[in-house]
Amino acid sequence: MAFGAEDCAGMEAALAEARRALREEEVPIGAAVLLDGKVVGLGHNRTRADIDPTGHAEILALRAACAAVGANRLVGATVYTTVEPCFMCAGALMHARVARVVWAVRDPKFGACASLAEVLRHPGLNHRVDQAEGLMADEARALLQGFFRAIRAARRDPGGVGGASAGEPNDAAERHGG
Ligand SMILES: [Zn+2]
Repeated sequence: MAFGAEDCAGMEAALAEARRALREEEVPIGAAVLLDGKVVGLGHNRTRADIDPTGHAEILALRAACAAVGANRLVGATVYTTVEPCFMCAGALMHARVARVVWAVRDPKFGACASLAEVLRHPGLNHRVDQAEGLMADEARALLQGFFRAIRAARRDPGGVGGASAGEPNDAAERHGG
């Protein structure tokens, strides 16, 4: 799968959002919506801060993009996300009628676009979304691994950093938890 300069810019924007999530002690996942080559929406995981299981990067980026363009459909848009979208986000991406989704790393526990299902390619749905994966995967994976490593360290040393209480560390799989 070949990626162009616009793809790299989109994923860089998503990674910057993931780093923002990390600074806020959230699971570091970020998303960016590009329309006509411009970033129109950004979002990062906020499930803990907002006490909201729907506070995923993709959902927040879609909301921001729709508000920015004043429409509830983002026809022609590409969404970049650092982790494979879950069922909820894949559904939202379909509802938003985006043209394409690009993610960096798969999510074996919640991923609904390749890992557990292929929602975006479901033959029963009348809208199809192109998908691609693997762009800047090393960077996205390093952010996640660093986050969960810090949680494990905090668990061994409760007086240390974080003091978080997530479940079993497993790559991106705890994006919903906390
Ligand atoms: Zn999601």
